Amino acid sequence: MAAVSNYDIVLLDIEGTTTPISFVHDALFPYVARNVSEFLTTRWDDPEVQIHVRTIAQQANEDVKAGIASAIAIDLDADSADEIRGKVLANVDWQMKADRKIGALKGLQGYMWRFGFESGTLKGEMYPDAVEAIKNWVKVCKRQVYIYSSGSVEAQKLIFGYSDHGDLRDYISDYYDTKVGAKTEDSSYKRIASDIGKQPAQILFISDNVLEIQAADKAGLQTIVSIRKGNAPIKDDCKFKTTTDFRTIPL
Ligand SMILES: [Mg+2]
Repeated sequence: MAAVSNYDIVLLDIEGTTTPISFVHDALFPYVARNVSEFLTTRWDDPEVQIHVRTIAQQANEDVKAGIASAIAIDLDADSADEIRGKVLANVDWQMKADRKIGALKGLQGYMWRFGFESGTLKGEMYPDAVEAIKNWVKVCKRQVYIYSSGSVEAQKLIFGYSDHGDLRDYISDYYDTKVGAKTEDSSYKRIASDIGKQPAQILFISDNVLEIQAADKAGLQTIVSIRKGNAPIKDDCKFKTTTDFRTIPL
């Protein structure tokens, strides 16, 4: 690999970078699909569940107004609890099948994942070389590692806190999600650099998504494309550095 140099900060994507893309589709989403009905039945009176129900109802009603065919209106005042629960379940089902990335759905998923991770049913899957590199960067090189992922910060902390390599949160200085901006916008990376208090060039960003790498490069960050089994293939004319194993990245 061509040299990367003089970076103080490592900024990591998760899916396709530290963690197999399949983890989300083979573990996280099925966990929600399998358990959502039981969750909404046994925890219906939990105030947090009610917050997610209200948010999903609001989104569903906006979707109906916007003319989205699969959306069903949910009337929190007129519908019975059973009707609301049934409509919320149907709503979550179609949103997940459509792989919708909407805040209302993410909120409920995040809530459920917390139980899944805390109970030991779910474990964040990490590439061993990524874990080794993260530990070396922090413990040996005294660099700082940050995460930037489209999954919510809460979900990111669960994946690193309950990983198959133990609790890795001590190694992570902070977490960013799309609240800081889209991962394909260079302004997001500038915002992260200024938030960390470093020049963009002092930050090394690693991601499997070339559009994200392009945006980070435009913002002045150093970049490496993560090549992993199961990732979308990278074009032959890709001008960015690539790695298949984090241990080959110069410390
Ligand atoms: Mg990714």
